[in-house]
Amino acid sequence: MVLNSVWKDNNISRLEISRRTGLSTATVSRLVDSLIQDQLLAERQPIAAPKGRPMKPVYFNGKGHYLIGIDLGTTFIRGVLTNLSFEIIKEIEVVTESHKDPEYVLNKVVQVILNLANTNLVDSGRIIGVGMAVAGIINLNTGIVEYSPAFNWRNIELRNFMESHIPFPVYFDNVSRAMALGEITFGKGPKFDDLICINVGYGIGAGIVIGRKLFYGTDGMAGELGHLPVRGDEQVYCTCGKKNCLTAYASGDAIAQRARIGLQNDKSSILNLIPPEELEAKHVAEAAMKGDPLAITVFTEAMGYLGRAIAGLLNIFNPQAIILGGGVSLNGPIFWDTLKPVIEENVFDHRSTKYHILPASHPGQSAIYGALAMVLQEILNLSLTIRKQGT
Ligand SMILES: [Zn+2]
Repeated sequence: MVLNSVWKDNNISRLEISRRTGLSTATVSRLVDSLIQDQLLAERQPIAAPKGRPMKPVYFNGKGHYLIGIDLGTTFIRGVLTNLSFEIIKEIEVVTESHKDPEYVLNKVVQVILNLANTNLVDSGRIIGVGMAVAGIINLNTGIVEYSPAFNWRNIELRNFMESHIPFPVYFDNVSRAMALGEITFGKGPKFDDLICINVGYGIGAGIVIGRKLFYGTDGMAGELGHLPVRGDEQVYCTCGKKNCLTAYASGDAIAQRARIGLQNDKSSILNLIPPEELEAKHVAEAAMKGDPLAITVFTEAMGYLGRAIAGLLNIFNPQAIILGGGVSLNGPIFWDTLKPVIEENVFDHRSTKYHILPASHPGQSAIYGALAMVLQEILNLSLTIRKQGT
């Protein structure tokens, strides 16, 4: 409670902490002294108070402890070491090789974490914990990744593996929910009570925030927007094995796949210049911006499916904002200019408050900030989540 008060309102007096927490001034003083000793808080020079003794404002000591954030993506494993002021001290990025077995991939994650911690820039004894953002359905109670279509993993004992290989506490969550947590903690989130953060990358997922709290659902599965069944032409399989999921139409992987299919009957598209195995969604977006008809068709169709799904979310949850991140969202104006009209056209229009459609606060790094937010939340007990029992 004391840490939380200082995090929310830096430079606060002990008296004010006592007033806000309801704890006695003696208890607050004892706790503040102990937190100063632990280098989590620090005190400023005394300043004159309106009455009584001069007060010494207490502030959050961002330099005394460290965190590690990991974004375990299907293409790259990205890791950062930061202090509690979230200044990046060290960064590592390695290729995931997600086609290899889970143990191989998790060993790579372990190496990234140990490599981040092994630096003469910090005392590794002051690393508080590791946050991990992972694509998939994760049971937070058991620490098991129950199913991850993106990695093709089932029942991977993530917590056990991590705890037996690294000397720090590990916290993890689904990547889209992590992104939403990052937005509530560091980004645009504080402005909104209800928001939905959508990750449009290799796959598609949503982190749902209701009343400033993350929503998990009964099995921790809430927000699997990518597996929303949509009606389409069934040309591409979803990573889950089905053919009608939104991911099969609008994810980065699907955009590239659908362009490859289109190229079989289109020899005039400039996308023919790219070797098929190297073709990515960003090439399709670039070609569309140059006016390539095939690329325009593929990208516009993808945004059509995504836009209608987002309109559906707006109608169901009535959030103040939809925040979009992930690789596909980094394609600039063509992403926003193609997507927004579809949302506008399909959303229920009898609403008094205009919703916001916004880019993620840390483009390309939303998952990392989410991972860091997980550790911060554990430290501060910010109570941001709605976790049902069993998840
Ligand atoms: Zn699916």
